[in-house]
Amino acid sequence: MNGHPLTYLDNAATTHTPRQVYEVFEEFYAGYNANVHRGIHELSHEASLAYERAHDRVADFLGADGREEVVFTKNTTESINLVAYGLSRHLDEDDEIVATEMDHHASLVTWQQIAKRTGATVRHIPVTTDGHLDMEVTSDIVTDDTAVLCAPHVSNVLGSVNPVADLAALAHDHDAYAIVDGAQSAPTRPVDVEAIDADFFAFSGHKLAGPTGIGGLYGKRELLEDLDPFLFGGEMIRNVTLTDSTWNGLPWKFEAGTPPIAEGIALGAAVDYLAELGMDVVRDHENDLAQYLLRELADREFVRAYGPGVGEERTGLVSFNVEGVHGHDLSSLLNDRGIAIRAGDHCTQPLHDRLDIPGSARASFYVYNTRADVDRLLEVVDSARDDLD
Ligand code: PLP
Repeated sequence: MNGHPLTYLDNAATTHTPRQVYEVFEEFYAGYNANVHRGIHELSHEASLAYERAHDRVADFLGADGREEVVFTKNTTESINLVAYGLSRHLDEDDEIVATEMDHHASLVTWQQIAKRTGATVRHIPVTTDGHLDMEVTSDIVTDDTAVLCAPHVSNVLGSVNPVADLAALAHDHDAYAIVDGAQSAPTRPVDVEAIDADFFAFSGHKLAGPTGIGGLYGKRELLEDLDPFLFGGEMIRNVTLTDSTWNGLPWKFEAGTPPIAEGIALGAAVDYLAELGMDVVRDHENDLAQYLLRELADREFVRAYGPGVGEERTGLVSFNVEGVHGHDLSSLLNDRGIAIRAGDHCTQPLHDRLDIPGSARASFYVYNTRADVDRLLEVVDSARDDLD
């Protein structure tokens, strides 16, 4: 990039895809391109089988109990909207929705809008100065008025790993739904939705070595059975008359119209690729790089890093600011040297308000990054103030 070997450190936004993922597109379009669930011809049969099997692979990857519990969507944003829309039927002015100060806008804005439409109130679990959810006050915030609790498993800015199993247990103690935004956890650590006891868990394919345009929603079978569909049309119906319709079985009830077939099959290839690497290996590799960067940044008094500190549990992303250097300027300097990071508010404006900063620079790692990538980043961090003088 810009005449340099690429150093890609923007993986929390989107990861790169391995060969076995992008080759799915050629195999599908050159080999068995057809619509799913519609034809009795061979190609449609082959496409349907591959698309259905991809649901099975994602179910295995997340610890779900079969394909019925895995709905393919466009991304995490659509998954959260799907649940929020479905649950809104149960909400009114007596209900509270518990969100967090570290929420991504995908969740934050969605619940804000659902609250406006239903009359429910949104309460937010605060973030401590060291970048954790304040669990001490959480038990006061989650009460019998709570109808829904939605929290990120991993913060896309702080890298902190939230105790989602504890949050789910607390929500269930009050008969509330527990929803986990897994956009940053599914790609970076082993996830077991049953162990978390999440009612719903949302994730994006493009953040876990898969293509864009595909993501998913895990939901407990009985809850998905009960949830109203978000989109109506073909594929999601069983019987239709001029006056009424009945819904298809799970998960197809939530997949109206022609789905992103090749993307779905490629998502299956992506989770296979990660499962083969081992998600504990992925987590340890990311953690090693994040801890290395954190230690190096801690030695530089002109840099402030956010979130849990050296040695604390966190994932492979580090947000920071260099004194006197705007994040966009740093990002632009890095870009000139072939290094891709992200700068801005990372779709978490309220969290940046809480941290009292307008934005931050974020370096985020994936399986292909090395300590040499971190060294290249640090070289520019060290010279940035002189270079921009
Ligand atoms: N939630 C979190 C924690 C994220 O980091 C992101 C993306 O950065 C999202 C939700 C939204 O993901 P998408 O844009 O793929 O829907």
